[in-house]
Amino acid sequence: MVHKKGRNYSKELDQKDPLKVFRKRFMIPKDNKGNDLIYFCGNSLGLQPSITKSYIDQILTDWSHLGVESWFEGDNPWIAYCDSIKISLSKIVGANPNEIAVMNSLSVNLHLLMISFYRPAKNRFKIIMERDAFPSDKYIIESQVRFHGYDPNDAIIRIDPKEGEQLISNENIRSIIESEGESAALILLGGVNYITGQKLDIALITAMGHAAGCIVGFDLAHASGNVVLHLHQHQVDFAAWCNYKYINGGPGSVGAIFVHQQHHDKNVPRLEGWWGNRRDNRFLMQDHFDPEIGAEAWVTSTPPLIAIAALKASLSIFDEVSMSQLVTKSRLLTGYLEYLINDLEDQSIEIITPKDPNDRGAQLSIKVRRANKELFNNIIRHGVICDWREPDVIRIAPVPLYNSYEDVFDFVQILQNLI
Ligand SMILES: *Cc1c(COP(=O)(O)O)cnc(C)c1O
Repeated sequence: MVHKKGRNYSKELDQKDPLKVFRKRFMIPKDNKGNDLIYFCGNSLGLQPSITKSYIDQILTDWSHLGVESWFEGDNPWIAYCDSIKISLSKIVGANPNEIAVMNSLSVNLHLLMISFYRPAKNRFKIIMERDAFPSDKYIIESQVRFHGYDPNDAIIRIDPKEGEQLISNENIRSIIESEGESAALILLGGVNYITGQKLDIALITAMGHAAGCIVGFDLAHASGNVVLHLHQHQVDFAAWCNYKYINGGPGSVGAIFVHQQHHDKNVPRLEGWWGNRRDNRFLMQDHFDPEIGAEAWVTSTPPLIAIAALKASLSIFDEVSMSQLVTKSRLLTGYLEYLINDLEDQSIEIITPKDPNDRGAQLSIKVRRANKELFNNIIRHGVICDWREPDVIRIAPVPLYNSYEDVFDFVQILQNLI
């Protein structure tokens, strides 16, 4: 796509945008004069859909009118409340609905999935991960390794970028799997890296990992709702994600897991609770656990309905638009941001996110040489919400559901004036 300069062009793009109607369905944060702020933090906390309140209200109304009967009575009995959510999420991540469960939050879910899928043995006890994984993932993996009695220094293999580079390549990953794969029990990576915005080749990595006899799992916090995924088709063993970033389920929203069908019937060890017992005999209160078919067997507790209502509200928007439509706009929007930044021809700015749209999602991570947090504070003062990751990275995520091309244009103007 060849772009043009000038604000009028950004307005033209907005007018032609087939998804432009969706912006009106989100609560856009405003400054104290009532003007829309430029919100580029959907990779951290997605914006609130305007219908979210009514979904939460409905739960409160059911609760007030029916009390505990709400589980089985009313227009939308709570017992089946997550069924449609699983269908919506399965389209977003490319799965079958019974491969999805809605539960807990991301870090907890990674622990629960590692209990099942990190089964270290004498000659196969290592975990392959990224050097620059999200801190929680580092803590999760290190504590799991120690929990099993291993030393993280021996058991964790970290994939580094090439000397002097920021991104990891398929060659980096391939050579680690070739040298360490036979002693690795698990490969656990982020689908999209939180700091660089780099998207990994899930199909290729899963195939390479399986060829070496490893289980392969992904943290999809920055990938779900952002890029097209085919978890089932690509034979990914398991995955987990939070629903408050690109999926707009609200702060600390309930998370979700994917467990591939091929693991459903096997006796995979798992930490169990009554909500993973089959729905049709759960309330018989039997002594023995009779697991639900599929990923729901991993659910342990009663679902937090008020939080889940916010997720359901947000997914009703995703039900109206396919991931491929969203990604088509996302590539244009992020490509336009990249074009305008490159057009500044400022030697102090470097975009560390991959240039190839196949290797990234919505986010561009920008390094400004010799900048400090003051630059970032100034950007905020000019009405842009974005974030700063130490030591010198500004993350900008134009989200196709609610960001406009004019948002992108205005941001680059502000950036230009400040540097
Ligand atoms: C956002 C994020 C998390 C956050 O985990 P919570 O348990 O939801 O707080 C974990 N891992 C990655 C990669 C993330 O991007």
